[in-house]
Amino acid sequence: NQIPNVTLNNGVKIPQLGLGVFLVKDANELKQSIKWALAADYRHIDTAMIYENETTVGEAIKESKLDRKDLFITSKLWNSDHGYEETKAAFNASLKRLGVDYLDMYLIHWPSPNYIESWKAMEELYHAGKIRAIGVSNFQIHHLEDLMAHTEVVPVVNQIETHPYFQQKELHDFMAKHNIAHEAWGPLGQGKGNVLNDPTLTELAKKHAKSTAQIILRWHVQRGEIVIPKSIHENRIQQNRDIFDFSLSDEEMAKIAAIDKNQRGSRSPDDTEWLE
Ligand code: NAD
Repeated sequence: NQIPNVTLNNGVKIPQLGLGVFLVKDANELKQSIKWALAADYRHIDTAMIYENETTVGEAIKESKLDRKDLFITSKLWNSDHGYEETKAAFNASLKRLGVDYLDMYLIHWPSPNYIESWKAMEELYHAGKIRAIGVSNFQIHHLEDLMAHTEVVPVVNQIETHPYFQQKELHDFMAKHNIAHEAWGPLGQGKGNVLNDPTLTELAKKHAKSTAQIILRWHVQRGEIVIPKSIHENRIQQNRDIFDFSLSDEEMAKIAAIDKNQRGSRSPDDTEWLE
């Protein structure tokens, strides 16, 4: 029942399950959730500059007394920080807030127009050993094609909204073909859009004596995705991690594939006005 690693396209290993910390701004609440997660063997934390909680994440990992090398920390470059020099400055500011001297993974949060210049700065930081793996988030196929045509390092992951009502099949297959790992954000549908109450999932939950959330996370994992569910409750943090002791059959995976509604819960990455 251990959390497996996924080997990224540059050989770096990432724990397949991590803790998401979006919207967790209260420092005590965040520290407590990270403590519970680490006690349940999570070692991977997904934050971003825009979550305004990197400082607290840094304090929590320091207080854990764990070796830095045993943790996997991801942060992200925000839209207003794009550009070559800007990216380097934003990255260094994230490092400083987190109180670490390297990041395991750094992602372009959204495909803002200047992402090529930003990526070039990230490639340098990667080659200099300041980031172990560089990736992107919310990139569509055309963004990935453009990035790969104009830069050298292929992103290790694309972190995209994914859940049973928004399965992203075409992008998933494109990424698999190019050895870009699929990392799912909002893996539980962000607790909205009713996916947690879906009748097909509820029935599978009953059958496996698991919760609907666990069925959903197991489905992600069997698709080969990296998942970063967020919770601030001890029982859910433990539950979300307890998904490696059962499996869904091919038939059950197909049943879940059939409930896709192409229902995006957030804005589209092609909504360029917002990104500029
Ligand atoms: P999520 O799908 O992880 O949903 C979290 C919500 O689901 C919780 O607030 C809670 O209401 C519910 N929940 C959690 N565990 C549960 C359980 N066991 N049973 C029932 N309900 C449960 O949504 P998210 O937090 O938006 O996404 C996960 C992480 O992905 C974020 O914390 C963040 O790190 C990352 N993220 C990235 C982007 C991006 O643009 N790259 C966008 C959003 C989120």
